[in-house]
Amino acid sequence: MTEVVLESTLTCPLCGHVCTETMPTDACQWFYECPGCRQRLKPKPGDCCVFCSYGTVPCPPVQEFIMAYVESWTRKPRSKRYAFDQAIL
Ligand SMILES: [Zn+2]
Repeated sequence: MTEVVLESTLTCPLCGHVCTETMPTDACQWFYECPGCRQRLKPKPGDCCVFCSYGTVPCPPVQEFIMAYVESWTRKPRSKRYAFDQAIL
């Protein structure tokens, strides 16, 4: 069984700052303060947390959902699916 990935690399949509963060396993992180521009980022509409919106890996609850329901993952955007595959394989 594949392990849940806890590190995600966030790219700030405002200044392009890239930072690898460890995600909490028990909750979604709704806000993230960019270390580059000090702006508080919020998830995009339809995303549960900033990692799903701006990170290379979706948040742990989402990953667990994916592992349980692989079928539904195929409906996710291809770019994000690719990044997830890269992270777990
Ligand atoms: Zn920024």
